[in-house]
Amino acid sequence: MIREIQDKIIALKKEKNICLVAHTYQASEILEVADIKGDSFVLSQKAQLAPESTVVLAGVRFMAEGVKLLSPDKKVILAHPDAGCPMAEQIAPERVRQYKKEHPDHPIVAYINTTAELKAVCDVCVTSSTAVKIVSRLPEKEMLFIPDCNLGDYVQRQLPDKKINLWLGGCHVHAGVTERDVINARKDHPGALLLVHPECVPEVVAHADFVGSTSAILEFAAQSDANEFIIGTEMSISEHLTYQFPDKHFHMLSKKLVCPNMKITSLMDVYRAIAGTGGEEIILSDELMRDARRPIDKMIELGQ
Ligand code: SF4
Repeated sequence: MIREIQDKIIALKKEKNICLVAHTYQASEILEVADIKGDSFVLSQKAQLAPESTVVLAGVRFMAEGVKLLSPDKKVILAHPDAGCPMAEQIAPERVRQYKKEHPDHPIVAYINTTAELKAVCDVCVTSSTAVKIVSRLPEKEMLFIPDCNLGDYVQRQLPDKKINLWLGGCHVHAGVTERDVINARKDHPGALLLVHPECVPEVVAHADFVGSTSAILEFAAQSDANEFIIGTEMSISEHLTYQFPDKHFHMLSKKLVCPNMKITSLMDVYRAIAGTGGEEIILSDELMRDARRPIDKMIELGQ
């Protein structure tokens, strides 16, 4: 059944000249037929270079918006209209505008996991892999970091000369992991390396052998000589690694590391979006596109 739907998707993509983009947290059966896979910002950068004029995205809404912002002339369809990210939608843009009024000298640094409306009121975006570099290159000493206080805290620890004001937001999936989970996992798998995402709480990050974005974790595990790992990010990463490297052992840091928002998209949703009977086209006004693109361009400029 899965193979049949996958074959239909492959044929339809070719017939309709559609590029299928999937985030690494998606199910394997979706990733197997995707043309582009990766972390959120990498997806939009690669989609920009794709020759197809239509992109179907299996992931969450802010990622589809990111693709649209970088490829305004492409038609971008979110495979499941209800796939949102609670962290990306955590802050009303008005609250950021208010902060700016009160602190006009503080740049607003936004994690790329934010809505287009929120990006539009910020000064610079960062990804989890570029956050330290981008913040270190800002001329200002003091700033506001939104929305993930754990990633912001991680950046602050790497850059003690900066003063990073944090917003009390974050990813409920990563933030749900506790130090007790680390102690239990270490007990169950002594000798395994602990790889964690900086969206985890500082008490968890403090125990890690490696801290990095999803792509960095995948790369570290692939290149490491070690053969046993505890993975502190969404469960799909442990699954993909187990599939890719059958001779190595991967354990989830906690069973809580499951993102329901990422799991909402099924292979059938992808099929319907490609067939034109499902999904939702991302439409952003010209003004929003212009304003939300500004902090992304700043990130690209500072990241070079
Ligand atoms: S893992 Fe966290 S940040 Fe990523 S989509 Fe899910 S809720 Fe959002």
